[in-house]
Amino acid sequence: MKNTKYIFVTGGVTSSLGKGIISASLAKLLQLRGYNVTVQKFDPYLNVDPGTLNPYEHGECYVTIDGAETDLDLGHYERFLNIHTTQDNNVTTGKIYSNVINKERRGDYLGKTVQIIPHITDEIKRYIKLLGSKYGYEIVITEIGGTVGDIESLPFIESVRQIRWEMPENTLVIHLTLVPYLSATGELKTKPTQHSVKMLLENGIQPDIIVLRTEHSITQEIRRKVALFCNVENEAVIEAKNVKTIYEVPLYLHEEKFDTIVLKKLKLPEKKEPDLTKWKSFVDKIKNPDYSTNVALVGKYVELADAYKSIIESLIHAGATNNAKVNIKLVHSERIEENNLNETFKDIKGIIVAPGFGSRGIEGKILAIKYARENNIPFLGICLGMQLAVIEFARNVLHYKDANSTEFVRNTNYPVIDLMESQKSIVDKGGTMRLGAYNCELLPESKAYSIYKKNIIKERHRHRYEFNNRYLEEFKKAGMVVSGINPEMNLVEIIELPSHKWFIGVQFHPEFNSTVENPHPLFVDFIKTCLE
Ligand code: GLN
Repeated sequence: MKNTKYIFVTGGVTSSLGKGIISASLAKLLQLRGYNVTVQKFDPYLNVDPGTLNPYEHGECYVTIDGAETDLDLGHYERFLNIHTTQDNNVTTGKIYSNVINKERRGDYLGKTVQIIPHITDEIKRYIKLLGSKYGYEIVITEIGGTVGDIESLPFIESVRQIRWEMPENTLVIHLTLVPYLSATGELKTKPTQHSVKMLLENGIQPDIIVLRTEHSITQEIRRKVALFCNVENEAVIEAKNVKTIYEVPLYLHEEKFDTIVLKKLKLPEKKEPDLTKWKSFVDKIKNPDYSTNVALVGKYVELADAYKSIIESLIHAGATNNAKVNIKLVHSERIEENNLNETFKDIKGIIVAPGFGSRGIEGKILAIKYARENNIPFLGICLGMQLAVIEFARNVLHYKDANSTEFVRNTNYPVIDLMESQKSIVDKGGTMRLGAYNCELLPESKAYSIYKKNIIKERHRHRYEFNNRYLEEFKKAGMVVSGINPEMNLVEIIELPSHKWFIGVQFHPEFNSTVENPHPLFVDFIKTCLE
């Protein structure tokens, strides 16, 4: 699209200020005004994608429908905007360099010296413009990861400077900073913001709008001060005070007239007022629910809730849909033992066993599944959680002693979960799993069917192992129902136990498909059952 507008969101002072939520919220407001908008994330690290990163390093790895392993901020974009992002919405330094080096090897640069400027910056600019040209978005918001001043983000900042120079009328820079509060003197301090804007100016970029993250309201005096020292109008200084839930941020920023100033600066018509009625009632249900329930989320990264971001957000969506607060107890799978099950799951109305890789903590997860199955507690197993439910059933119902996944014990006697045929010859770890959205055909009259109310669903995957069809008949005979199958490859995608109140395991990741507008039916029905 010729006149796509490009908005860049940079961050200063510290990381973790919530650039992702600010970007997603602005996008939502512009979308509700009638613009076709998307958000893109640039990550200044050398991994080609976060797929090979440990969740301790980077939190959850979010998967797009086209099978890209991406930053968890893309999850926020999808949940807020109810659109699909793609592999082009997340770009790392590693991906940029890898593309440039591949081109160099092919001889595409015709003997030129390959340099950061212009070759790396050109590749970055190509990605910025791609979402406008290839997908036709009217507004593309690009979130630049990291903090201004980091060596690593310099090529990205330089690319923003160049694009701005090329098309000043179609670009806008929003700088997000922190205004710390000194409790000793009871003051909010603007100096870090001034310094951070100075750093941007040194790199040739004058921000158009400054967003101030703060724990206390900004006074007019502070607004004026920031405006004066950072060369922006008073109205271009936006307050972003801490709020109770991230879903409140769009409402807050609209009150601050953030979308109005953005459109004004881009010389775009305001079109209509954003209709926030539905969004407000969703936020209201999160803040003032009538009911509550307790759900245990069993995983091995519980010190870091970001590792399970999408599951936690899906539970918030499902809670709001059921007019309930979902209290999530994060349970460390390594600490679960036979003798503490009652205590661990005291007052727990539903158990979710999380996805994961590697053998750490799996026996604890299996104990949790056995407990849920035997005590008729609603159970949802996601990816590894589903595989472990199969293993638990094999060991304790079919009495296949030591049944396992070949991921954990290569030569187990009962490989009920095994490497997919297509995976056996793969050596590279990055981007080679079964990734992205695949069809799943539901069995009529199954629980899954009654929840989805559809014959064919499409859900996202990220795994190498699968149910071993060699054992299918034995499982069926013993009462396990396979209620979802991938029709193209005949892979087991959903298992359930009809004798149980609510026991479902899914080989895919439903959490990547839950949005504010479309809370995921599996989570909604799971929470509904927990509330009964
Ligand atoms: N480790 C398992 C596999 O690779 C499950 C992966 C997951 O839970 N995402 O198949």
